[in-house]
Amino acid sequence: MTPTSGRSLLLVHAHPDDESIGNGATMARYAAEGARVTLVTCTLGEGGEVIPPELARLTADRDDTLGAHRIGELTAAMREVGVTDVRFLGGPGRYRDSGMMGVPDNDVPGCFWRADVDEAAGHLVAVVREVRPQVLVTYDENGGYGHPDHIQAHRVAMRAHELAADPAYRPELGPAWRIAKVYWNRMPRSVIERGLAETAAAAPFPGTAGPADVPGVVDDAAVTTVLDGAAYAGRKAAAMAAHSTQITMAGAFFALSNDLGQPLIATEYYQLVRGQAGPRLPEDDLFAGLGAADHAADPGDAADPTATDRPVEESAR
Ligand SMILES: [Zn+2]
Repeated sequence: MTPTSGRSLLLVHAHPDDESIGNGATMARYAAEGARVTLVTCTLGEGGEVIPPELARLTADRDDTLGAHRIGELTAAMREVGVTDVRFLGGPGRYRDSGMMGVPDNDVPGCFWRADVDEAAGHLVAVVREVRPQVLVTYDENGGYGHPDHIQAHRVAMRAHELAADPAYRPELGPAWRIAKVYWNRMPRSVIERGLAETAAAAPFPGTAGPADVPGVVDDAAVTTVLDGAAYAGRKAAAMAAHSTQITMAGAFFALSNDLGQPLIATEYYQLVRGQAGPRLPEDDLFAGLGAADHAADPGDAADPTATDRPVEESAR
């Protein structure tokens, strides 16, 4: 879909599938509303496990072709939510999946965990200055749940947010761009506890996940923004199903390769960490409170920044 609203949303994720689980409904909504939605995924998820037995040979310890396969899954998933601008940080395969914290893959040269943050952020600055997002979505400083690639995605995204706005930083990557709002993915504790209790009762899988298995869980009060994804629940489920090496769907529930059931939650939650919140909390829109200057489609269109400072009386007279 051609962007028509002047809104631009950038999401930075670690592996293919994180975007659909965390933001599938959000992406579907903004794509449907005509926003430009850009996904940057930092690795191909080469180190992941594989659920379908017939694809078991793809794993890193056998054919090591899972990365290429997951590019296909991600492409199919994004088709389900209407997102066409999908990129891999530095190009496909530039940074390799580092595996869970503490495994030998953490030390493999070329893995994302070993990447120089400033160098990796440079690739993202180029994207930021090209697509000029008003909103950036990524993980908290613990990567949501401690996975090295998620922690590194956080560091790279936050560093790129800073560098992209600095006119002295690599002007050859395009004019400086300040992203107005930055959000971290969140899951309110009360919501996930209720959802996991429902999962345990329905028992669609041999076991049930715990709150520690779910990324971004925080006290409810930390959540600033709630996106009601009911209208896009089907799109989100279809996007998740496209990641079939990673996710098993079962109605209102799903499981990763650990076979522990989790609830499929279409409402998506965020914490605003940079920028000004909209007039009402919790926000129901990531773009809430943004003005014309933040939405400039290109630098030439930017409104006179002094115009917004004009006294109210002038128009009231
Ligand atoms: Zn991940």
